[in-house]
Amino acid sequence: MTAPEAAPATNFIQNIITEDLAANKNGGRVMTRFPPEPNGFLHIGHAKSICLNFGLARDNAGVCNLRFDDTNPATEETRYTEAIQEDVRWLGFDFDGRLYYASDYFGRLHDYAVELIRLGKAYVCSLTADQIREYRGTLTEPGKNSPYRDRSVEENLDLFARMRAGEFDEGAHVLRAKIDMASPNFNLRDPPIYRIRKREHHRTGGAWCIYPMYDFAHGLSDSIEGVTHSICTLEFEDHRPLYDWFLESLATPCRPQQIEFARLNLTYTVMSKRKLLQLVNEGLVEGWDDPRMLTLSGLRRRGYTPGAIRNFCQLIGVSKNDSWIEMSTLELCIREDLNENASRAMAVLRPLKVILDNYPEGGVEELDAPNHPLHPELGTRKVPFSREIYIEQDDFMEDPPKGFFRLAPGREVRLRFAYFIRCVSVVKDEATGAIKELHCTYDSATRGGDAPDGRKVKGTLHWVSAEHAPKATVRLYDRLFSAEHPDAGGDDFKAHLNPNSKETLTDCRVEPSLAGAAPGSRYQFERQGYFCADSVDSAPGAPVFNRVVTLKDSWAKIQGKGSG
Ligand code: ATP
Ligand code: MG
Repeated sequence: MTAPEAAPATNFIQNIITEDLAANKNGGRVMTRFPPEPNGFLHIGHAKSICLNFGLARDNAGVCNLRFDDTNPATEETRYTEAIQEDVRWLGFDFDGRLYYASDYFGRLHDYAVELIRLGKAYVCSLTADQIREYRGTLTEPGKNSPYRDRSVEENLDLFARMRAGEFDEGAHVLRAKIDMASPNFNLRDPPIYRIRKREHHRTGGAWCIYPMYDFAHGLSDSIEGVTHSICTLEFEDHRPLYDWFLESLATPCRPQQIEFARLNLTYTVMSKRKLLQLVNEGLVEGWDDPRMLTLSGLRRRGYTPGAIRNFCQLIGVSKNDSWIEMSTLELCIREDLNENASRAMAVLRPLKVILDNYPEGGVEELDAPNHPLHPELGTRKVPFSREIYIEQDDFMEDPPKGFFRLAPGREVRLRFAYFIRCVSVVKDEATGAIKELHCTYDSATRGGDAPDGRKVKGTLHWVSAEHAPKATVRLYDRLFSAEHPDAGGDDFKAHLNPNSKETLTDCRVEPSLAGAAPGSRYQFERQGYFCADSVDSAPGAPVFNRVVTLKDSWAKIQGKGSG
């Protein structure tokens, strides 16, 4: 049912499930669910939850549902439900036949609310929102009972029916659970369970004008579906007594167990959908799938693979303690994947023309270049070589400092898969002094990259043949934020956007095999990094590549971490 993974995960939730299975709890069934609210696109934090929930189902012969928690008509949209389904499938998980919506249960949830009223466990409260807050008390002081708390069952039933019929304005009444205004746990101080919202719902349209609150809808939806283990993040730990209270108070078909784990916090990004939505709405990125966004659609477009993200989720593990994961860990996962799986190619991002004075005019050779150094079975490709080539501008220095082993006047270097060349002169623009082109000679005896006389060169450069190299656009993406914790301490996270997170180069030259790169195909550009043909903007003949990740961690040095 799901993507194959190396070994079943071991974590404290798996241990609970193992014990439950041994005790034949739930008749030996395991059912989990992934319950996104369709109010935005999924991000890398959701990937942790998806891998956990679908992974536990897979490892325990169970099933995992995808359930939209669509109880707030003000923020939810159908296009989000579509994007979320696409992302879950892309990540490698299959929910066919198990796609649910909390809104499908609105009828049953309403009936449960009526049942609570009948049991004397819920009442219609007519305090204003501000008054409700005031009556709730503080951490040190108990709350006060609402003056409406002792309404009769009949009066409550009548008022709730009229709330449903649309007789009242938003905020005029709410239905509250009658629990304990003196509870040390705020969540048990008569929490609201139904409110009036005169909004069209993306699925139920105008059928309802009262909507259930998350805490009420969630556990009951779990129970309606037959979920056995309801796994959520730590901030819901204090809600667990309420989750249990609803299930105990009502004759529900089953008794799911809520288990909390620590959410993923990742450096150099913000994680909440609300903040990601701000970036989109304020035009600070180019949409939810901007390749700099840590959304699953952004990562996909950037060139991340589902396997790399699953490996990342496996690597970071599951625990009860909040912690921060380094962005470099995620980058390492994609780097390892692409090192193994991406074809090699040559692309010159900032071209400098080199003329080989002693190479025959009009001559062309086809040189063999391996597609993958670790996998000879992937074969070779032909790379044309001719009298005029391009190299990278920064592979040449007129006055090189110590330690620069690339091309310089009088110096010899190797062209990858080709010949040794030696620089004989530099042509400059008379007006600006900028370097226009280099004249070099090549040594025909060094074809393939070695000199028969055994002489060595220190540098090897990538290159393309000028006449044969199509133009390409390359976007050098970097981290979207330059601060490790952009939203720490109430900071305005938008003040920490990295001004250099995207650099677009429109004059790149690539080897001919890249001209028709299929959208979404990934390469290692030799010496440059890993790149992916953009799935939206790239077209055969006019390729556009996104940098997925550099070859090495360039941020480690900046932070003084690692060896760089
Ligand atoms: P956000 O604040 O980003 O909107 P959310 O928790 O409100 O996150 P939901 O759509 O309600 O988003 O989340 C669906 C599921 O994904 C929930 O079970 C939630 O616990 C889980 N989830 C959300 N963010 C993370 C995270 N950073 N790490 C792990 N799980 C997460
Ligand atoms: Mg939410």
